[in-house]
Amino acid sequence: MIEVEQLSYSYPDGRQALEGVTFRVMEGETVGLVGPNGAGKSTLLLNLNGLLACPPQRGRVRVGGLELSRANLYEIRRRVGLLFQDPDDQLFSASVGEDVAFGPMQLGLGAEEVRRRVSEAMAAVKLPGFEGRAPHHLSLGEKKRVCLAGVWACQPGVLLFDEPTANFDPRGRREFIDLCRSLSATKLLASHDLEMILALCERVLVMDGGQVIAQGETREILGDEALMLAHGLEKPHSLFHAHPHPLQVCQGTNSR
Ligand code: ADP
Repeated sequence: MIEVEQLSYSYPDGRQALEGVTFRVMEGETVGLVGPNGAGKSTLLLNLNGLLACPPQRGRVRVGGLELSRANLYEIRRRVGLLFQDPDDQLFSASVGEDVAFGPMQLGLGAEEVRRRVSEAMAAVKLPGFEGRAPHHLSLGEKKRVCLAGVWACQPGVLLFDEPTANFDPRGRREFIDLCRSLSATKLLASHDLEMILALCERVLVMDGGQVIAQGETREILGDEALMLAHGLEKPHSLFHAHPHPLQVCQGTNSR
């Protein structure tokens, strides 16, 4: 669903933020993107729907087989929904309903279809009836859900999340994880919340210095303490306290 080949990107001040990034995400997969601050995670997400460069400065991006190019930009943006870290970067209307309707209206859908998509999206993020509320009166968790509703209302096949659980309280975080799990799409989640990555992602990419350093099965990669420490991360607590499989306990007993 997402194919990235040798993608590089430098900011206008000359700072190279991505260098030869290559990976794939299969349809329906949920993949984690981890790495220290400044690794290039946000820059990568912004490159996947052409927000920083279109076509890519160097390398290729394809979504569902479609090349990221000027000619395909509209269709790529329709397919790829991005949830920003700070909801205040995403919300700008006077009411929640108007905000969530913005994307579907940009797609040129009729008024009836826009209304249907808005109410479906509000139900999907478990905020039915919030359409008349003012976005700036909502809690952080509610704002994030409204942003997600706005993205979801465009029915993208791919969801990109930039630090979705940053600054959440524990309950808000748990609810967001459940919500994220309930949305069926191909997902790429950039986060320092490694327990969330462990809970949601089958596979993980480790980035550092603008490059993909490692990729593989989540428990294997996050459980590699040396790899985690080398890239400013920590092995998640739950992997230290994981109970051994009953069979391993038996084998251990027998061999003693
Ligand atoms: P991460 O999301 O992993 O923390 P970023 O993608 O935000 O990393 O940043 C990658 C690199 O690009 C960092 O060195 C950062 O300082 C730099 N960078 C980010 N945004 C800009 C910008 N607007 N202009 C110049 N450099 C930037």
